[in-house]
Amino acid sequence: MLASCAMLRTSELISRRCLIVAAAIGLSIAAGPMLAYEPGTHLRIEQRAVDVSTVDRLLKDHFSLLSGKNQFLRADSGQGLTLGQWMAVGAYMEDVPSFRALNHFHTPLLPWSSAGLNVAGVSPGVSSVYWQQTADQSFGGTWSWPFARRRFNDFLTSSNQADRDAALADVARAIGHMSHLIQDATSPPHTRNDAHLVYDGYEKTIEEFRVNESLRFSQLLAGAPVGANSAIFTPTGDARAPATIARLIDSDTYAGAQPPLNGTLLGASEYTNGGYVSDDTIFLDFPFPSPASLGPAFFDPPQGTPGARRYFPKIFDGDHVSHFVAEGTLWERLRFRGQTLEGYILDARTYEDAARFLVPRAVGYSASLIDRFFQPELEIAAPARYVYGRAPFTDGNTGSFTKLVFKVRKTTPGATGAGMLTAVVRYRKGLVNLIEDPVQISNQLFYAVSAEQPATLDSNFTELTFDFAANPIPTNSADLYLTVVYRGSSGAEQTAVLYGDKDVFEPDPVDVGNITDYDCFGANPFHVADFSIFPPFDFNNPDPVLNPQPRDLSNPKDGFPELFGPDDELNTIFMKVSSFQGPFASAAAFDYQVTQRVAQPGPQYVRFFVIQDQPFYVLSWRPGLIQHRGFLPNGFSFNPLLATVPSANVNRVVVDAGGTLRHELVFPFVYRGLTSLNLNVLVTDIPRINACFPNTIELQPALSRIEGQPAQP
Ligand SMILES: [Zn+2]
Repeated sequence: MLASCAMLRTSELISRRCLIVAAAIGLSIAAGPMLAYEPGTHLRIEQRAVDVSTVDRLLKDHFSLLSGKNQFLRADSGQGLTLGQWMAVGAYMEDVPSFRALNHFHTPLLPWSSAGLNVAGVSPGVSSVYWQQTADQSFGGTWSWPFARRRFNDFLTSSNQADRDAALADVARAIGHMSHLIQDATSPPHTRNDAHLVYDGYEKTIEEFRVNESLRFSQLLAGAPVGANSAIFTPTGDARAPATIARLIDSDTYAGAQPPLNGTLLGASEYTNGGYVSDDTIFLDFPFPSPASLGPAFFDPPQGTPGARRYFPKIFDGDHVSHFVAEGTLWERLRFRGQTLEGYILDARTYEDAARFLVPRAVGYSASLIDRFFQPELEIAAPARYVYGRAPFTDGNTGSFTKLVFKVRKTTPGATGAGMLTAVVRYRKGLVNLIEDPVQISNQLFYAVSAEQPATLDSNFTELTFDFAANPIPTNSADLYLTVVYRGSSGAEQTAVLYGDKDVFEPDPVDVGNITDYDCFGANPFHVADFSIFPPFDFNNPDPVLNPQPRDLSNPKDGFPELFGPDDELNTIFMKVSSFQGPFASAAAFDYQVTQRVAQPGPQYVRFFVIQDQPFYVLSWRPGLIQHRGFLPNGFSFNPLLATVPSANVNRVVVDAGGTLRHELVFPFVYRGLTSLNLNVLVTDIPRINACFPNTIELQPALSRIEGQPAQP
């Protein structure tokens, strides 16, 4: 029933191409009838769609796949290709075996359940919007939306790099298969139930260009892509195609009463069905386009020239197509159903002019599918307490975070059902203690995966605690990136997989010291904690002549002290990292506490780790009491709130806009024997210390670390 001379020629072309493709991808490919665009055309359209989509940047920014679309991914089969190649192969393979193509039709003016190919009352397949979401496609493998979602979940939540790569390869190939169906919806016969079992001029012409006129073909592909408006993704209300990507094929906005025009809220099949004709449906079977949309005929080449032919442009109802239909000879018209009287035919000029519009839409809508697939649908925000995680420092920087707290909400319309939520932290390991040498991070990526927990998400933020006890996040890590994955029902989709992510900053070793053992006068530091050299200034007897005091440095002495300190922080110090709005340190809100921190005899510091998400933040601390020594009598400050504004710890590998791989990091510096990435200190007087700070860097004694206690995770 399907054999014909034309098909035999097609088969020859395909097998020749197969040799080339087989060499490239190591697959053996059979081909057959009823393909829309030829598989090789699908491959090229998909390659271009990959290029115009945002996937390259997204993979670099969200998943640290630093080669982007060129990331090499080995599938479970052992086959290795780049991500872009997997998509292109998927677009190619959707026609293999060829009878899959029986499911590549969609007539938008019919109910979806009967919108598939119909040959003399028999439906040999289902509509492409159903096929795209069929959970088990059997022959040729399942490469549908539910499968892609499932494998995306595997990619997002696996801690094994090889498993992740294989899952993403499957995702990419499935996206190619699904894109193929969108591309077919820009082929007029596939949207007008024109089975074109013998010959379809449009598809053959495009293929002819691809094989024999590569420049012309490239020009079609290079046309400005027309993608879908992101508002196209409305609920379908159809349980057999519950995912909103069905809208890329049929938005259910074109009903046949008015021409659909050429907006980007239209499904591809509506745009094509109502805007273009196929060989066997020239102004037949469907309300639009209609002959009324044609303009005055013209000759091309000019009248009187050999080969002159009359063409009609389409000048109303959407795209303006210069050679829309031609006037055929009687002999030509016999090829076209129902055209012996009216006289319209299609030829290479009309196919090419239609393709100038249809191919860019195939490219753009395929790119829209890619972008929609990878679109984050969850949003992560800092918790009420501001820090996501906190951990004590342990010697050698061997500690870890075992819990993270943050808020999650759904950003796409509608709430989820009751599903499961998992948090994943991607990081690079420190090969040495990164506080001392932050350059030495692993090339390899590591993944800490939290315990799964039940969740229902909507547009309001929910604060959740994620348990990483079984798979803790080392404090000695870099290039942290947080992803949260929801698996369960969402809208009409029962097996949805949604994700959101946040580039949190690296584990930040917060060092808080008390260095009031020194005070400065001019550019010179004085060790005021040494009471044998600088005994406390006696305010009861400040006489510069009768009782000259070492803290009175003016010359001649004036009876007032120039040196102050040390200051001891007593009665428990609470420390908090927060936004500029707080919460600030208190006994009720803190990240770390220490019983006391003194500067006499030597300076002390505490160190704790936080994970937070802002480039600058507030570090506040509140001692119960500061005792200002170096006076008689001592001075006191009760419950003072002290604060600094540190910048975040940065240590990450990025590909910049120019494509250059960069390792961005904060270098430590050494202060009084302490190597620190983030030093915050209590001083006696900020302007005085600033003036002599460079002269204090190597002073003795060194800062000594004291143990404190982190707040409960
Ligand atoms: Zn197809």
